[in-house]
Amino acid sequence: MPRAVVWFKRDLRVADHAPLVEAAEHGPVVGLYTHEPEVLASPEWSPRHLAFIEDCLGELRDRLASLGSVLLVRHGAMPETLDRLHDQWRFEELRSHEETGLAITYARDRRVAAWCRRRNVRWIERPQHGVVRPLASRDGWAGRWRRRMAPPPLPAPTSIAGPTADQMEILAAEDAPASDIHGTTVNPMIDAQRGGEIDANEVLHSFLHERGEHYQRAMSTPIEGWTACSRLSPHLAYGSISIRTVHHATRDRIESLREDPATGGWRRSLASYEKRLRWHCHFMQKLEDEPEIEFRNFNRAFDGLRQEDRARWTPEEQARFDAWVGGRTGYPLVDACMRCLDRTGWINFRMRAMLVSFAAYHLWLHWKPVAEHLATRFLDFEAGIHYSQCQMQSGVTGINTVRIYSPVKQAIDQDPEGRFIRRWVPELADVPDEHVARPEEMPPLTQHMAGCLIGENYPAPVVDHETAYRAAKQRIFDARGTSRARQEASRVYRRHGSRSRRAERR
Ligand SMILES: Cc1cc2nc3c(=O)[nH]c(=O)nc-3n(C[C@H](O)[C@H](O)[C@H](O)COP(=O)(O)OP(=O)(O)OC[C@H]3O[C@@H](n4cnc5c(N)ncnc54)[C@H](O)[C@@H]3O)c2cc1C
Repeated sequence: MPRAVVWFKRDLRVADHAPLVEAAEHGPVVGLYTHEPEVLASPEWSPRHLAFIEDCLGELRDRLASLGSVLLVRHGAMPETLDRLHDQWRFEELRSHEETGLAITYARDRRVAAWCRRRNVRWIERPQHGVVRPLASRDGWAGRWRRRMAPPPLPAPTSIAGPTADQMEILAAEDAPASDIHGTTVNPMIDAQRGGEIDANEVLHSFLHERGEHYQRAMSTPIEGWTACSRLSPHLAYGSISIRTVHHATRDRIESLREDPATGGWRRSLASYEKRLRWHCHFMQKLEDEPEIEFRNFNRAFDGLRQEDRARWTPEEQARFDAWVGGRTGYPLVDACMRCLDRTGWINFRMRAMLVSFAAYHLWLHWKPVAEHLATRFLDFEAGIHYSQCQMQSGVTGINTVRIYSPVKQAIDQDPEGRFIRRWVPELADVPDEHVARPEEMPPLTQHMAGCLIGENYPAPVVDHETAYRAAKQRIFDARGTSRARQEASRVYRRHGSRSRRAERR
């Protein structure tokens, strides 16, 4: 009976967890989660991620204990952590899900593989999403995704053999509390989502049965999107629910609605939702196939277009970045979104796209520092989706439609009464509706009456929209028009392009 360590990473659950189920069938099991210094020091990391992870670990610890096993939470580099554990509890197997993550986790996996070879431990990995490893060609990928999602989710094991009581005592003595990781687990957010399987399943249920009816129409607005979107992204990012579980629950709900002609809105919304579950894996597949996109433009013809190295930024570039980060650009919807993100860890897709578009085009900033900052703000940071989307919204793939969002038009379309803006930018609370998207156009008397003097209480726009928009459009289309950019675009499309062009353009 081989002893196994199940290594939990971004799969913090017991349901639909193949490595756990398979380990439990074969012999005694210990669960392991490691806070890795390299991950904690990465530019994408934030203590807010730890708060969510801690919720998940607390629940996972209880679940494994109730099933007969244990979750060990360690702090240290992976091979060393495994070394120590192996000395304490000699195990023959390491079981985990495949991970599509940052370069540091990829390099760590190679070190873990080398450690396993040295110690004669079998490392058995299982896929957890629709990401295919290795993938020779994108042709037929959607079919493979459907086949991957088709089997029903695995139920959690009903019992798991763990170490003996004596062994358990030795193992548990080294557990690392979260306060050791960051000194404190203070969560600076309000209204932040909680982690854990229980919450994940409640969020899924309330979306499919109560909140999701107007998803298709409401997903783009920051106000309605708050409840109309599924809000499952942090749970999918940390694996407190599997994408297959979400896929099956959505399919079942669509089937149950089919008989009732009065449920057209629900069905349209859920059909549109279903597609996005595939996009989740489609975007992650890009990072799996070309890990370099964490650092480099998809389309290398765009190299050098914007200054990536922050040490070489001009004071103006730094000032533009700081204004964007601080929610003080003078564009109310951009500022409201940044401040909302700061406090809640979530914003809807359209607003994310607008934030990056504004940074990349209006402020002409490189996607890398922009992406790193947003990663620290998003509770749902998922490297494959994030880096692909940040590059796409910055126009450097060469295969997607260039979308330069006007922050003023978005404010008028998505928040016409300025409710969202006023909530997050209280300086604009008394600005009349007609000026809330462009407060700098208020006459001086109106500014006085609204208690909002532009340049004093609220900044003037950091750049002029029309001028910045025209300059950015010219630069990006000039870059796209070169033969090198077109050649590169063909390569990018062959390697990464969705074979449904409509989906890719989005
Ligand atoms: C610049 C930028 C960065 C992003 N970074 C992340 C990220 O780090 N992590 C992340 O999970 N999503 C990211 N997204 C995609 C998307 O905005 C979020 O998945 C979504 O807003 C999360 O909220 P939700 O779960 O309520 O989404 P829903 O609309 O309810 O969608 C359900 C799920 O489908 C997937 N999904 C939805 N839209 C997309 C999309 N356009 N691309 C890929 N998958 C999608 C997500 O897994 C999401 O949880 C990013 C988008 C942009 C424009």
